[in-house]
Amino acid sequence: MSDVALLAHPARLRAANAARTLICLILLGVVVAVLAVVFGRSGERIAVQMCINVAAVVALCVYCGNTGIVSFGHGAFMAIGAYLSGILTMPAGIQRTALPELPGFMAGYELSLWGALPIVAIAGLVFAAVSGSAIARLMGASAAIASLGLLIITHGVAVGAREITRGSQTFFGVPRVVDLSLAFGAAVVFILLARLYRESAAGLFARAARDDADAAAALGINPQRTRFVSWCLSGMMCAVAGALYGHMLGAFSPASFYLSLVFAHVAMMIVGGMASVGGAVTGVIGVTLLQDSVRQFEGGVDLLGIAIPEVFGLTTVSLGLAILLVIWLRPTGLVGSFELGPGAGTRLFDRITTQASPAPAPARVAEAVLSAEGLSKSFAGVKAVTDMSFEAPTGRVTGLIGPNGAGKSTLVNLITRQYHADAGKTRLSQTDLSTLSRESIAKAGISRSFQNLRLFQGLTVYENVLVAALAAGHKRHHAAAVALRELQAFDLAELAATPAHSLPYGARKRLEVARALAQEPVILLLDEPAAGMNPAETDDLADRLTRIRHERGIGILLIDHDLRFVNRLSSWTVVMNRGTLIAQGTPEDVRADPAVIEAYIGRGRTAAAVTHSQEETTLKQGVRP
Ligand code: ADP
Ligand code: MG
Repeated sequence: MSDVALLAHPARLRAANAARTLICLILLGVVVAVLAVVFGRSGERIAVQMCINVAAVVALCVYCGNTGIVSFGHGAFMAIGAYLSGILTMPAGIQRTALPELPGFMAGYELSLWGALPIVAIAGLVFAAVSGSAIARLMGASAAIASLGLLIITHGVAVGAREITRGSQTFFGVPRVVDLSLAFGAAVVFILLARLYRESAAGLFARAARDDADAAAALGINPQRTRFVSWCLSGMMCAVAGALYGHMLGAFSPASFYLSLVFAHVAMMIVGGMASVGGAVTGVIGVTLLQDSVRQFEGGVDLLGIAIPEVFGLTTVSLGLAILLVIWLRPTGLVGSFELGPGAGTRLFDRITTQASPAPAPARVAEAVLSAEGLSKSFAGVKAVTDMSFEAPTGRVTGLIGPNGAGKSTLVNLITRQYHADAGKTRLSQTDLSTLSRESIAKAGISRSFQNLRLFQGLTVYENVLVAALAAGHKRHHAAAVALRELQAFDLAELAATPAHSLPYGARKRLEVARALAQEPVILLLDEPAAGMNPAETDDLADRLTRIRHERGIGILLIDHDLRFVNRLSSWTVVMNRGTLIAQGTPEDVRADPAVIEAYIGRGRTAAAVTHSQEETTLKQGVRP
């Protein structure tokens, strides 16, 4: 039984995912039980705090883990949740004393926690949608800094809005209704929600865009939208976690949700590993236990007769050291990028037999022609492509060759709208591609591979292909069968559960082609698919591509430096040099064309002198004329 049959079978995948979720829950359950049973009241207090922190950090991870962006903004959502829930649930008598100037429409609700939480969730979602419409446009450090800005602004507003929050004074009278069972229940629900989102199509899209936004966009995924969705869900969950935190404390101030809380949560996330839910849970448990043990010593202690004096800030220092140690030893956190448990790289479930069947080959595509007319593109004066016209119909492999820097990759990027052409048009039959967004090109029937490998490194081999099938609009069940078909077609089935980053080179190249084919394209653009492969691997790839073209009738535009490979597959060759078309025709005609020989070998050589191997070596070395 191979991993792919295991993983591509929806029931087995669910079993593996359920097992991974269960590991998180058991881990948390055991620690909470030990704390509550062994350490009594004080242990229970720590356990409640730990569960609320799990909820908050897991909620934070829904954004950070799936988009790869560290956010400091979730403190804002927690504050909104805590204050809103506090106002809605506060006994009217206390509210009159504590908040005498509270606007009338906000006063006197006296809701239960269960009545308040849905309102808190909606408020969190609305605030997330408004802030997310700006923050989701940003990536990396700029998004992190914008989220910090959001935290600072919200803090400022909370301090300023005295009538509602009592300003920087303590906000009191919030019913302390969070006990251990409620806190643990909340942590369980949050873990389940985060796991479901992570494995859902939306979560997979977000993780794909996190690993490579351009490659995701080429599959039809809108990276900005994936960040927005993750931000909204995360914000909503953080608001609820904040409400629970407020009901645990009973009294708080804006400072309770400010930098120290936010940094503690971010530290927990980084220590555990932010790319997985298991990491968030492990980080919270590890850091909480560390902090609570160190806190015992902060006030000074008598250790084996030696009096250790009071050390101010010992918990903060130990947290800092823990982060440094983890970053040094395991940059991706204690758990790493993959969930705890079976799936990635393990064969625990292999013995369970199951009948996963690949999807049948797709119907032959209808005849169509990809055409470029007068395409031009320059980069700051460098004319990468000039007035380039050619056609690539279905049912044919069209070779595209030319020395290094000839503009071949730029041409592919123009067709796929990764670059916008300065002039010219591209069409697929009647469809004008040059007006589409880059995310719509895949839907129009064009898939591509990249010259420099652009796999989703944090996804497994199976997920890399699955995400492409899902992005093409297949329902989950069918997408799994399509992914299985492409993995088998490229001999990757045995590697299905392997993380893409640990694949051997040849397999990575094949995976890119399999991923593109999972979209069931009409035209496939392959930018140097055999680069770096040995001759046996190249021949094997040629066989597989030939079979697929026969079976599905698709058109392939094939760029490669290995002329033997291109000539073997293509029946029409287009030659570029310095951004322009210099020849096109059958491979034999093109090989004899003086302009082509000059472009590759230089002046003064005759066609007869050009041996096949010379051609190849020259091309491989990328010698320019
Ligand atoms: P090929 O794929 O045929 O080797 P490319 O299309 O990669 O050639 O490059 C063609 C020319 O365009 C080169 O001179 C290259 O430096 C330039 N070029 C390509 N992409 C960019 C870019 N993003 N910015 C600036 N110059 C670029
Ligand atoms: Mg190139």
